[in-house]
Amino acid sequence: MNRQNAIKVNAERLWARHMELARIGALGETGSCRLSLSDEDAEARDLFAGWCRAAGLTLHSDRAGNMFAVRPGRDPKRSIVAAGSHLDTQPHGGRFDGISGVLAALEVVEALNDASVETEAPLAVVNWTNEEGVRFAPGLLGSNWYIGAIDDAVLDDIRASDGARFADEVERIGWRGATRPEDLPLDSFFELHIEQGPILEAAAVQVGVVTSVQGLCWLDVKVTGMDGHAGTTPLDGRQDALLAAAAMLLRINEAGRAEGDEARVSVGRFIPETDGPSTIVGALDFVVDIRHPDEAVLKRLESRCFALCDETARSYHCRAEASRRVAIPPRKFDADCIAAVQGAADDLGYSNQQIASGALHDASNIAARVPTTMIFVPCRDGISHNVAEYATPEDLSAGCDVLLHAMLSRAGRV
Ligand SMILES: [Zn+2]
Repeated sequence: MNRQNAIKVNAERLWARHMELARIGALGETGSCRLSLSDEDAEARDLFAGWCRAAGLTLHSDRAGNMFAVRPGRDPKRSIVAAGSHLDTQPHGGRFDGISGVLAALEVVEALNDASVETEAPLAVVNWTNEEGVRFAPGLLGSNWYIGAIDDAVLDDIRASDGARFADEVERIGWRGATRPEDLPLDSFFELHIEQGPILEAAAVQVGVVTSVQGLCWLDVKVTGMDGHAGTTPLDGRQDALLAAAAMLLRINEAGRAEGDEARVSVGRFIPETDGPSTIVGALDFVVDIRHPDEAVLKRLESRCFALCDETARSYHCRAEASRRVAIPPRKFDADCIAAVQGAADDLGYSNQQIASGALHDASNIAARVPTTMIFVPCRDGISHNVAEYATPEDLSAGCDVLLHAMLSRAGRV
């Protein structure tokens, strides 16, 4: 690629579409609330579909309401080079999480149209249904169904928090289609996404070349001691489950720190069975969330947490039972797709670094079936799932330029 006359995306159009979509389900100045398959989601999908049709794309949708807007290639036998993300948001979501990936994929097609560039392989812009998992659980639902992790009947009967049935809601908003995954075979999938963390901004880097998604496990821990009277029970004789659990939290944090920068250990749910200022807590539950890009370290941290909960409980005359609730192994992205992104970022002269994704994304699912990777765009203060979420127009268009050239190298320019 010649850097001077490389095709570039239209940064203003990309930004303007972010702002236009954000008006649907707007919260205050900068927030968005478009829960999956709600009226707001329907309106956003219709706006997006209109843009796709105007760009000459053909829309397909499937049982899960996933949307595929396809641009033909010169060679109809080639599999599709696809990109996208999700248009649904958190209840207090921002303008970029998910949205940027869908709009960037559309912008790639628009920029190729503007430059009259045809590709050998077809291209597609994808909107995955219910990534956020707020109204319907679990999250990443559309991509989970797509890879066969959830079967048709289970998908159809999932109930929303408001009681609505998934299949009925997809039908209601007009996006229940008959396309099966095998009808639109994918060559590869690229997901541009805001980083949702502080690393790229801190390093003053414009593009994150994502190599993997870190693994995750959740441990349920139950600490049992004995309820007691705060005034009459001497400090020595107590079986204080809250105190034991507090000591566990500190030790879990130390265990995480001992594994270096990439380790994450958190306790966000911590529920004592009693809640009285004068009651010694006799029982308590908490959940440990452990994440790491390396499976061996993830397993080591997990067994370390089991062991230290047990030891700590004993030293406080309590008992701890820990069990694993969820384990999702780390996902390494496809080496050729990563190389396409890395090559595009280098050729275009954008500062970049390789990075592991801290959050799960639809791309983590798609990677189980199709060569996949992601492109990260820095976001201000690492803030996301928040109305204050922000990425600059410059960074978004840089990431989108990289997406364009990565897709072009994969699809082949005619
Ligand atoms: Zn997202």
